[in-house]
Amino acid sequence: MARIVMKFGGTSVADLDRIRNVAQRVKREVDYGNQVAVVVSAMSGVTNQLVKWCTELSPLHDAREYDAVVATGEQVTSGLLAITLQEMGIDARSWQGWQIPLRTDTAHGKARIQSIEGAELVRRMETGQVAVVAGFQGIAPDNRITTLGRGGSDTSAVALAAALKADRCDIYTDVDGVYTTDPRIVPKARKLAKIAYEEMLELASVGAKVLQTRSVELAMNERVRVRVLSSFLDAPTNDPLGENAGTLVVDEDEIVEKENVSGIAYSRDEAKITVRRVPDRPGIAAAIFGKLSEDNVNVDMIVQNISADGTTDMTFTVGKADLPRARAALAEIQTQINYSEVLEDPNVAKISVVGVGMRSHAGVANTMFSALADKAINIQVISTSEIKVSVLIAAEYTELAVRALHTAYGLDAA
Ligand code: ASP
Ligand code: MG
Repeated sequence: MARIVMKFGGTSVADLDRIRNVAQRVKREVDYGNQVAVVVSAMSGVTNQLVKWCTELSPLHDAREYDAVVATGEQVTSGLLAITLQEMGIDARSWQGWQIPLRTDTAHGKARIQSIEGAELVRRMETGQVAVVAGFQGIAPDNRITTLGRGGSDTSAVALAAALKADRCDIYTDVDGVYTTDPRIVPKARKLAKIAYEEMLELASVGAKVLQTRSVELAMNERVRVRVLSSFLDAPTNDPLGENAGTLVVDEDEIVEKENVSGIAYSRDEAKITVRRVPDRPGIAAAIFGKLSEDNVNVDMIVQNISADGTTDMTFTVGKADLPRARAALAEIQTQINYSEVLEDPNVAKISVVGVGMRSHAGVANTMFSALADKAINIQVISTSEIKVSVLIAAEYTELAVRALHTAYGLDAA
């Protein structure tokens, strides 16, 4: 017998038939003798509609009322699933965030969880009652309803699993696991049986965003075993590596055969900025990046070169959406820094190879550079971390680069 948290996303509860399908899966776990808490999202499209209504009425609406509105999507599905389970003869009840209570701070619209009172849920689960929990929502110290940010029901599920000391947190979604890269680009992408928390964080940008990043951070900190699997394929057996067992997100110590590279991620969300001919002296980087951070511009990759004539070029990337703000910030410090000009290139892509095995293997970066060279793809910027090597290339070569690297690291399915 195990205690498990099952989480179902919006597409898994999109209509009554799918809610019945979800109830069948819950029933199966109950029949195994497991104690079950279920976390549900709003039916797909509902949250978007609710957000749209708030914005239509007032672009600068009161964030507390926004939360009162958007939290309702999850309230509906939790009640509907409880009714469905009861109809099947299963003891179940719905729980809203405030009823548990799941306490958060007051950052409405993107609140952070502070504590979860799990005792009463556990007491009832021990009697066989299924707890159907509305994801995404909580309650602030002043008793107002809060929500956790878009995609936040993943975080609700992981936090609940930690609070209930659950054996696993199964995240049911519309993909059957985490892949070595985006299968839409590389048909030979392989589903990973296991992936380390840190790799999962780095691969968050691969294809459809499978898990909210915060939920992975939380799982890593609280050591929650997370399984990502499809609610549309045949039900899993209790065998963690069985049919449709999905991908297990775990501590890297649990991964015996560490691949040098587990996956390849890409992002077209960044833009490249080059500040030309900045004086090559102490304080210049501090002045540029200090100003950008003051203006809330997130900088990712950075390169600076040496120079013969006392000036240098500073190249870095920022989120595409931040480009106008970065431009304005740089304009403001032009007289202070005395650079010659600013060049912008939004047509870039960042390609990253990720793997915890890199910690103990040399040559990973070189394989990447050679594979790109073979395809005559120019590397504009390079950055590395302990488990990741990233390069910036022209956006038009994204697919070509991802495919070439997938092959170069031996990730292609047979
Ligand atoms: N329904 C919320 C959203 O669409 C939360 C979630 O689905 O995770 O963002
Ligand atoms: Mg989601």
